Amino acid sequence: MDGLRFACQPGCTACCRQPGCVYLTEEDLRRAAAHLGMTAAGFESRYVYRTRHLLRLRKPPRLQCPFLEEEGCRIHPDKPTQCRVFPFWPELVERRACWRAAAKFCPGIGIGPPIEIGSALEASVEMRVAYPTTYAKHGKA
Ligand code: SF4
Repeated sequence: MDGLRFACQPGCTACCRQPGCVYLTEEDLRRAAAHLGMTAAGFESRYVYRTRHLLRLRKPPRLQCPFLEEEGCRIHPDKPTQCRVFPFWPELVERRACWRAAAKFCPGIGIGPPIEIGSALEASVEMRVAYPTTYAKHGKA
């Protein structure tokens, strides 16, 4: 793909409302717990669903994320990797059609300063490092 444009829009939380799960790394869990003044164990027992291969936030009824509030994300400075890196996810930056599809709900895609594809791909590597089993399972994306 050529250069991409992106500028997150203040006050928008559209990406937080998309159907899906919020996955965590162990470090994400520790940081979010510390942000809320909780122990990692306490945070996990209240907010996290853990399987052998992944950690994800439990979903409250009819919401995608327990930390999304009217004013925005309650743990914004310490939000999980996938939330911080969006929209530079491998599956979006490597496929033009997916990037365009994300632009349908994200008003920040397509505006702002151009971002070199190399920089976008570099950012997306953080996702592969953070969630290796997810990306291994689905191949390139
Ligand atoms: S949907 Fe796009 S513009 Fe809106 S908060 Fe998410 S990244 Fe920012």
